[in-house]
Amino acid sequence: MIIVLSKKAGEKEIELVSKEIESKGLTAHVSKGKERIIIGAIGDERLLNIEHFNAMPFVEKVVPILAPYKLASREFHEENTVVKVKGFEVGGDKVAIIAGPCAIESEEILFETAHAVKEAGASMLRGSAFKPRTSPYDFQGMGEEGLKLLKKAGEETGLPVETEVMDTRHVAMVAKYVDVVRIGARNMQNFDLLKEVGRLNKPVILKNGIASTMKEFLMAAEYIMSEGNKNVILCNRGIRSFEPELRFPLLNGMVPLLKQKTHLPVIVDPSHSTGNKSLIVPVSRAAIAEGADGLIVEVHSCPEKAMCDAAQQLKPNEFANMMKEVGAIAKAIGRSI
Ligand code: PEP
Ligand code: MN
Repeated sequence: MIIVLSKKAGEKEIELVSKEIESKGLTAHVSKGKERIIIGAIGDERLLNIEHFNAMPFVEKVVPILAPYKLASREFHEENTVVKVKGFEVGGDKVAIIAGPCAIESEEILFETAHAVKEAGASMLRGSAFKPRTSPYDFQGMGEEGLKLLKKAGEETGLPVETEVMDTRHVAMVAKYVDVVRIGARNMQNFDLLKEVGRLNKPVILKNGIASTMKEFLMAAEYIMSEGNKNVILCNRGIRSFEPELRFPLLNGMVPLLKQKTHLPVIVDPSHSTGNKSLIVPVSRAAIAEGADGLIVEVHSCPEKAMCDAAQQLKPNEFANMMKEVGAIAKAIGRSI
């Protein structure tokens, strides 16, 4: 961290800043120029409270050098993290395709969809038993009954399964049934929930909040990792914008930017970001071309009757076509699905 002092600062002010730096075990390196005094804090600057310096009236500016998310940052861990889930990897050469219904609605729909996505080549089955709905009157999910079905569908198809957990009180119970837990957009900054899944011995898919910055997203991953769980898969699911015809647009460039900042795998959600199944193939192709390590996509055996997100769920044959389309892009960039 570099602390720039205003012209008026004298020896007393230099000492105040240096003491604050040294109190955390870092070294203060003072350079006196003609116009300014610059103090470099040498050591792990994340131990310093940047606001203490900003609150000093003679401090002109404070320039952090390191990312505040230490465990998640590429500065700290240069190599890509590859998250292993049963027989496959997220973040390796292969692009992971996670597919399944938005919600677990019934045994029949779940199993039909699970077999269809398996046949088309998906690597993991998704399905939510706890649904974060805007209206309390909308379908809230099947709860634990749904999780039992999901586990059974995973066993029957041989696919690993993932689901959303929304409540700290459910974490241990949900983890019993699935291979991967998911933190949804609405809970990206539910810090107690992040800490709770951080203590699990299971990979976590972390979705970005609908109005979060990249830094906040990576700090949320840091919460999970700081509890010991290093198996975090980031999911770019878009953010709120001024365009209502795209549900939560994805920012072009966000995937490669994330991958510069962090070593964690990054997947993309073409379903919740578009809200429109006619856009899923092109958006998925773009995500893979940008370097996404996977996709999480909603597929339903009969979307017309889906209890939530009907407009964005692909039919099994549409999903099979999507697999071909994205497979071609993966191949073009030296990867496979
Ligand atoms: C989901 O994936 O089921 C979901 C609700 O997505 P998000 O949390 O991104 O809105
Ligand atoms: Mn959904």
